[in-house]
Amino acid sequence: MSAKDYVEKDYYKVLGVPKDATAAEIKKTYRKLAREFHPDANKGDAKAEERFKDISEAYDVLSDDKRRKEYDEARSLFGSGGFRPGGPGGGSFDFGDLFGNTAGAGSGGLGDVFGGLFNRGGRQAQPRRGADVETEVTLSFEEAVDGATVPLRMTSQAPCRSCAGTGAKTGTTPRVCPTCVGAGTVSRGQGAFALSEPCRDCKGRGMIVDDPCTVCHGSGRASSARTMQVRIPAGVQDSQRIRLKGKGAQGERGGQPGDLYVTVHVDTHPVFGRKGDNLTVTVPVTFPEAALGGTIEVPTLNGPAVKLKLPAGSANGLTMRARGKGATRKDGTRGDLLVTVEVMVPKHVTGDALTALEQYREATASDDPRAALFQAAEGA
Ligand SMILES: [Zn+2]
Ligand SMILES: [Zn+2]
Repeated sequence: MSAKDYVEKDYYKVLGVPKDATAAEIKKTYRKLAREFHPDANKGDAKAEERFKDISEAYDVLSDDKRRKEYDEARSLFGSGGFRPGGPGGGSFDFGDLFGNTAGAGSGGLGDVFGGLFNRGGRQAQPRRGADVETEVTLSFEEAVDGATVPLRMTSQAPCRSCAGTGAKTGTTPRVCPTCVGAGTVSRGQGAFALSEPCRDCKGRGMIVDDPCTVCHGSGRASSARTMQVRIPAGVQDSQRIRLKGKGAQGERGGQPGDLYVTVHVDTHPVFGRKGDNLTVTVPVTFPEAALGGTIEVPTLNGPAVKLKLPAGSANGLTMRARGKGATRKDGTRGDLLVTVEVMVPKHVTGDALTALEQYREATASDDPRAALFQAAEGA
């Protein structure tokens, strides 16, 4: 029994009973008809045999309370007279993803629509996991270091409310595609070489909309936006993609929700840089500080400055470590702040400073920093 049968076939008419017939009436009528058209009583009469099949099929559905309910629901939704036999215009209407986007030929489409429908009658519709959703967010440098709760605006596709996802204008119903008779596939070739391919007229959907819904223009879909507060964990890095389990699209028919993947962009900071769990900072020092050593104050991110002891004779580019002043790790501990020393050379030297520097030059005149260089060059 296909979903299409439910819509196309009028089982009440087949049995010749009113829609509100009781179970007893249906049974009585069926017995009478079955006797009349039974193949044993109509040997060789193909028409009678066909009629007998139809009667049995109708009785199968109408005698089962649950299936009868589903059948009634399907027909009340898609028009009690079945689909209109034809309509104006060609069958070139774009269904888009109306019937689910599993793009498979034929198998998908119609079944999904009816699947949802029958679920209310308690039938076998399978739960379906919600789709994974991708999004992006830009965090400030500090937010990335410490973690942050950010609002994410998500748009997702939901069935159009106006047409309940059918894509057909209110008061009209999609009709079964005459080319593939609702199957969504057509056979090409013959015999053993027959190939099944998606029907071109209905794009594999099995159904055609003649009067598109004015709200969704026939797509059957509406986008809905929601804003969600999402916790981005501390220590996230630029371009990192994080997975938030269960924050994607809602599942269908009781299925699990999908996951949300957030690609994080992190703004740069004017002072601090980042190397994994460590933060970096470059600190200018004077020549006397580098040569004689001393205590230097270094700023930290979101915290008080720290004092570091600069050893005497520190070279330009020396890196020191302020423990625990870096980025927060997953386990809550923190990385270090890597402090790189940059020895500053004054552009203009005047006055006492100039005098002092000239004295320093005289005092160190015998030290040639390039001597070793020439020795090495000659020796080679
Ligand atoms: Zn078709
Ligand atoms: Zn619509």
